[in-house]
Amino acid sequence: MLKIPRWQLDPQQISVETGTMSDKPRPIRLADPVQYLKGIGPVRAEALAEAGIHTVDDLLHFLPRKYLDRRELTRISDLKIGDQVTVVGQVTGKGVRQLKRRKIFQVTINDGSGLLHCVWFRGGDWIKDRFETGDRVAVHGKIEFYRQLQMIHPDFDHLDSEEDPLNTGKIVPLYPGSASLKSTGLESRSLRRVFHGIWDRLEQIADFLPEPLRDDCGLLHLNEALRQVHNPVDTDSSQSALYRLKFENHFFLQLLMALRRRALAVLPGRKFPERGEITEQIYRGLPFRLTTAQIRVMRELRSDFNSGQMMNRLLQGDVGSGKTVVALLAAAIVIRAKAQVAVLAPTEILAEQHYRSFKALSSQVHISMALLTGSTPKKERLSILAGLKSGDLSMVIGTHAIIQEDVGFKDLALIIVDEQHRFGVLQRGKLVGKGVYPHVLAMTATPIPRTLAITYHGDMDVSLLDEMPADRAPVSTSVIEAAQLEQAYGLIRSEVRQGHQCFIVYPVIEDNESSDLKAAESGFRLLDRKIFPDLQVSYLHGRMNAAEKDRVMQAVQSGRTPILVSTTVIEVGIDVPQATVMLVENAERFGLTQLHQLRGRIGRSSFPGRCLLVKRGGGDESAERLKILERTSDGFEIADEDLKLRGPGEMFGARQHGYDPKLGDLVQDGPIIRAARQAAFDLVRNDPQLQQGEHRALRQVFMHRYEQELDFLKIH
Ligand code: ADP
Ligand code: MG
Repeated sequence: MLKIPRWQLDPQQISVETGTMSDKPRPIRLADPVQYLKGIGPVRAEALAEAGIHTVDDLLHFLPRKYLDRRELTRISDLKIGDQVTVVGQVTGKGVRQLKRRKIFQVTINDGSGLLHCVWFRGGDWIKDRFETGDRVAVHGKIEFYRQLQMIHPDFDHLDSEEDPLNTGKIVPLYPGSASLKSTGLESRSLRRVFHGIWDRLEQIADFLPEPLRDDCGLLHLNEALRQVHNPVDTDSSQSALYRLKFENHFFLQLLMALRRRALAVLPGRKFPERGEITEQIYRGLPFRLTTAQIRVMRELRSDFNSGQMMNRLLQGDVGSGKTVVALLAAAIVIRAKAQVAVLAPTEILAEQHYRSFKALSSQVHISMALLTGSTPKKERLSILAGLKSGDLSMVIGTHAIIQEDVGFKDLALIIVDEQHRFGVLQRGKLVGKGVYPHVLAMTATPIPRTLAITYHGDMDVSLLDEMPADRAPVSTSVIEAAQLEQAYGLIRSEVRQGHQCFIVYPVIEDNESSDLKAAESGFRLLDRKIFPDLQVSYLHGRMNAAEKDRVMQAVQSGRTPILVSTTVIEVGIDVPQATVMLVENAERFGLTQLHQLRGRIGRSSFPGRCLLVKRGGGDESAERLKILERTSDGFEIADEDLKLRGPGEMFGARQHGYDPKLGDLVQDGPIIRAARQAAFDLVRNDPQLQQGEHRALRQVFMHRYEQELDFLKIH
């Protein structure tokens, strides 16, 4: 086992200067609490603590979201349309103007040479209280002309006086705001003042990144970076400072990944060198030929099985790319060697479907497998547990029910986790603990953008199923308005007449669950009674018990139910080849990735699919967003757009992924992330335990930052 002795963190030497009369105040240290800084105090300290800022070090790492170049101010009389400028002046008026369609809020500024109007279309109430007549302000933005010279949604802040050296005449940082920071008046202007008070007294900061690494990666010294990032002399230095500090954050995370990977790599992995006759038979019995991508992935899996190391692989493939059969073929290799396989799925419906697919695809051979979920009857459960213990059962497929403590295996050698981002590391870890270094194959249909993948799954090898089976007809997608529903229902009717099936999906979002469920329910009743009174319409939702769900899904899968109304429970994995139409109500409320996964439920056969996204609100922005789905069916492109538009927190559930806002913009910062990854992996390759003298400081900071993760990994 990899052992790194835990470092005893040197308790910070706090020098209490009692009695000594010194004309120099004691230096400010990184470890000092922010509260005692000039301009902060207890109330603001609390607001900062809420934002995760406790010490001077934390505060210095609070990075600007952007910079405004205020080295040059432009007089209003000199403004030209299209220029990006900063104007300083006095507020002479504010008010709301009613336009034809909407209200706008407007502030007028006078700098002695003329008047400039600043205009906001959104956020009126908040903005309104930010300006008073007589305020001295700086506004920054692009000059446009619409009946008058104006700036739309300018960046702005308030100046203290006519001559304000902190806020004009230089490049000034703008900091991200939060409600609690704002409520204590901690905005960009006051933060600039706080930082201004620090520089002269700040201790000389040592850099924990070793010098050779800094040289190789072109990184500023920490001491320089922290100063330049908040108080840059020019644009270049602000950018190099930002680069260094972002690099640092990614570097630590990648160091964790590199260590984790190393920790796994030194574990012995069971060898399964033979493909074996079960796999052979299943393969020969398949009603289709494997795609080239499937064959390539099988080769990658077999080489893992042969490597003598524990496999830790993520299989990424868009919906419908055929992950299930790959998983089964891998399982069969293990089962043939008399070892066991566990398949973990996020929902009961999915677990059941996996069970059915595995059964159907392996009908040529005998594999003793069982389905274990929360609703498995007690008696059956006991007999499954007995079978897993004795080894009579080769394979169990289920939900978190298979993670329960009393579930034990005779010889668990392969774990397959479906939609792995829905499980925490801990849950996966528990299952791993039920075997002796079992191989892990995680599967996901959520096309994770590359930067996110190396950020969060950087400790796994990645296989890609980047090719759809050839017999697939394309799905065409249209965004429609409620007024076009009649037509849509007509389309559904004609598809059903040809023996095809249709899904109608309603959003049910956690925050709004009960009213969403009501809306879905009444939507279902309307469809069932008024719109398709002559057709069988079924309803599936998350509140049903497993037996009811099962009954509905059986009816759908056998083709008896032509129209299924459902909530998002149908999101992942459902395989109904006859389904050709999907209609999504209130599509603007879904994320793009989620919609892309939903439409993957159709077009799973050679019949062309139609996906209709009914937009009922959300304005132009939503329309633009949804149009991306009309344009492309590339899951990765969609994921990237989603990431840009919604941010990674929204996309995957921030907490689950330990998403850290410090990591910043994962799309834009791709090059920084890749450089940091390279550096971290190189470093661990040369010094796997971070023992060399020059890595001492680095290791200390790292251990401090990732204390919890290291506990879990037992890398200490
Ligand atoms: P997903 O990757 O979304 O889990 P599935 O494994 O459920 O996809 O596969 C979707 C459908 O495609 C299934 O009905 C499966 O049997 C079928 N399938 C898988 N591989 C191929 C292939 N190579 N050619 C044709 N059909 C395939
Ligand atoms: Mg699947």
